[in-house]
Amino acid sequence: GRRKLVVGNWKMNGLRAHLPQVAAIGAEANTHASVEVGLCVPATLILSASEARGGAFIGGQDCHAQDSGAHTGCLSAAMLKEVGATWVIVGHSERRADQHETDADVAAKACAARAQGLKVILCVGESLDTRDAGAALPFVLSQLSASLPQAAAADWLSIAYEPVWCIGTGRIPTMDQISEMHGAIRAALVDAIGADGAHMRILYGGSVNAANAADVFALADVDGGLVGGASLKAESFGPIIAAA
Ligand code: 13P
Repeated sequence: GRRKLVVGNWKMNGLRAHLPQVAAIGAEANTHASVEVGLCVPATLILSASEARGGAFIGGQDCHAQDSGAHTGCLSAAMLKEVGATWVIVGHSERRADQHETDADVAAKACAARAQGLKVILCVGESLDTRDAGAALPFVLSQLSASLPQAAAADWLSIAYEPVWCIGTGRIPTMDQISEMHGAIRAALVDAIGADGAHMRILYGGSVNAANAADVFALADVDGGLVGGASLKAESFGPIIAAA
């Protein structure tokens, strides 16, 4: 079976004063060895977080598609890796929106990360307009197929389904909507990469909290979660890890 994967995305939150939370979450991870736990922290915290990480892995939240060059303000996969990241998120909806990242950009970033030996969480998800128009499934499947990197395989790549209208809103889809989407993503992965698609982990993200995590994680094709706000503190993230 697929090992559950629960990852916190701290987004643009966290100064050094927040590092005790990394240690507390890392300790929580150690008490739930059946679950793979990670924290994707701001790049400025990767080095110190990787020293405090306990049983949790540390990841970045984005990387550039190139190895180096004239890209002011950007970070390469090798840079993240050098300071202790072993994973990276690519294609988060906030970057697709704020930094105008395209599906092709996202695929290239995933390839660059893999070339450095980083594991990758690739995010997809529809807007509320798309959901309301009844087009969520075809939208997400087309985003997935266009963002899927070369040599996609379950040992280094996971998918996160994060409906944009559920991120930071306190809303989550119905369990049926999550099941339907994750089942469709699973089928598309098997179509695209063959039998290995059955092993690839598909995370749900968007307003996951201690109250809804157990129900979401129990769904057939949900292999864990990508958690924003509730991952900032061990007090709120711990119960989500425990629910997996
Ligand atoms: P929230 O859990 O704060 O809704 O954020 C979800 C998310 O975007 C994780 O990447």
